[in-house]
Amino acid sequence: MRIGHGFDAHRFAAGRRLVLGGVDIVHPLGMEAHSDGDVVIHALCDALLGAAGLGDIGRHFPDTDPRWKGVDSRVLLRDVGAQLRAAGLRIANVDLTVVAQQPRLSPYFEAMQANLAADLGLARPQVNLKGTTTERMGFTGREEGIAAFAVALLEGP
Ligand code: MG
Repeated sequence: MRIGHGFDAHRFAAGRRLVLGGVDIVHPLGMEAHSDGDVVIHALCDALLGAAGLGDIGRHFPDTDPRWKGVDSRVLLRDVGAQLRAAGLRIANVDLTVVAQQPRLSPYFEAMQANLAADLGLARPQVNLKGTTTERMGFTGREEGIAAFAVALLEGP
């Protein structure tokens, strides 16, 4: 068994989409980022790469590379999934926590989990997503941005 952890945070910005777990969220502000700023998928990629001993998302998809400008993060997640399979690793389960004061994300969780499961070839119960606020404390509490944590358990060599 191999365990990995991932964390990501992005700042809110006007005139940007808010995409989390590959789902477009209705909100006046989006995420400032080189890619689509999907913190949920970025944290998950880092957890998976970490468990596999393959470094981090910045090493595989550097934000200095124009290829990844505005990229749909689901493309990155599918690439990470393929790298794990190539290394003979199987995902047992992943668990994520999204930290956001606003907007309320629970109505989107089912669609987000379905996207993550589909991109990684997992059954729906292998992907768990949770949400929390920080009771108005810190940068998420002040609604400056959104953060996400992920853990992943892998089986294999
Ligand atoms: Mg990121």
